[in-house]
Amino acid sequence: MATAKRRAPGDSQRPARRRASSRLDRDDRRHLVHGFISPAVTRDEGTLTLVRGRGFHVWDAAGRRYLDGLASLWNVNVGHGRTEIARAAAAQMKRLAFAPTLLGFSSEPAIELATRLAQWAPKGMTRVFFTSGGSEANESMIRLSRLYWRLRGRQGKHKIVALQRAYHGSSTGAASLTGLTPFHQYYEPLLPGVVRIANAYCYRCPLGLDYPRCGVACADELERAVEREGAETIAAFVAEPVQGVGGVIEPPPGYFERIREICDRHDILFVADEVITGFGRLGVKFAISRWKVTPDLIVFAKGVTSGYLPLGGVLLREEIVRALEEAGPGFALHHGFTYSGHPAVCAAALANLDILEREKLLPHVRRLAPYFARRMAELRADPLVGDVRTAGLMGAVELVADRGRKTPFAAELALPLRVRAAAMRRGVLVRGSGDNVVVCPPLIIQRPQVDRIVDTLADSLAEVGGAL
Ligand code: PLP
Repeated sequence: MATAKRRAPGDSQRPARRRASSRLDRDDRRHLVHGFISPAVTRDEGTLTLVRGRGFHVWDAAGRRYLDGLASLWNVNVGHGRTEIARAAAAQMKRLAFAPTLLGFSSEPAIELATRLAQWAPKGMTRVFFTSGGSEANESMIRLSRLYWRLRGRQGKHKIVALQRAYHGSSTGAASLTGLTPFHQYYEPLLPGVVRIANAYCYRCPLGLDYPRCGVACADELERAVEREGAETIAAFVAEPVQGVGGVIEPPPGYFERIREICDRHDILFVADEVITGFGRLGVKFAISRWKVTPDLIVFAKGVTSGYLPLGGVLLREEIVRALEEAGPGFALHHGFTYSGHPAVCAAALANLDILEREKLLPHVRRLAPYFARRMAELRADPLVGDVRTAGLMGAVELVADRGRKTPFAAELALPLRVRAAAMRRGVLVRGSGDNVVVCPPLIIQRPQVDRIVDTLADSLAEVGGAL
């Protein structure tokens, strides 16, 4: 007697899910404009439409599960499906839809969050200006830095020094600070007054030197820039403590200490862009503390809400805001965004900070990071790999055509994107960024997820290498 075939749970939904998935795919191609990818590719190949997530997993519209090896976009640090963040935002929306932090208005969540951030921040950084993301935060940083010096009577101090391979966002000012060619090509003219200097990229030292014999000479590039441009023209120096999009590049010990000293000597504001590195990515509140220096401004976004709602901002040293206050009632800060400090968004951020603290995720990252670093380093065995770099729970694998000469692969080969696609087929999401494959998992992962990411990358590299 034939027995009825047993149905797997959810089988009955599969045709409906398939229909929904193909409708989404069709409408995505028709109507959505996607960034950071070739529009021809999204038109021809579609996108991966994600519909739900739980912890470190996400599911696509067809019901496939993936390990989220990039914390979505370097941001979902506490993982997906945190109902307490959703509840906090919803409760605030029910109580009061909106109040700005402009024109003399404020709201409870914005005040509470500012107070809490001042406790998270390095000593003396007591003031917060809110935005809706990292690019707006960098725009604010540019304007506030210029404003500060002008109010202090230093009219000429307007230039911002930024590093090669930096990523600071894609609005016009932030993209001008960004040091990656694709963000400039086609979009010129850029913001005037950006001074570019070599970064601390030991694998491919822009100065052609070797660490540690170099004596961290790259930090002195700031001094050279000051000599060239004149200290009286420079308002600020900005850097990510660890360059993320540029390929997880961490300056050596001593680098930011020297930068701080040069900034102090020439009255230059030191800005740490902690959009990726803030809120525990390196197992500390802000990554710049690794260098035992305190910046004047910290730019933040992403991890402050773990991506549940859009929020960014600038933390400022007390003295900077005092200059604005001392300008008297005749001066107004003509800068701000409608959604600066949106109450529901701030409520979500507070709930996110509660989770980071209650679940002790920072010490967890500090414990897991050495294992992550060890396992990632195993990828050096693959012939495609030139360098592997990690910092806390972020990592990059730099691909090269010739290891000895460190020759990059031709860009047209799009090798990192092929490794990403191979990993995706194996159920792990990572990112291709320039010559790098980058990973940045939610902070809640454990050793088995580290293993899964590294083993998948090893298999994906072997597959792509084998097809060359
Ligand atoms: N700064 C850094 C260091 C970033 O990594 C990013 C985004 O990845 C930004 C700024 C821009 O942030 P947003 O995309 O929220 O505008």
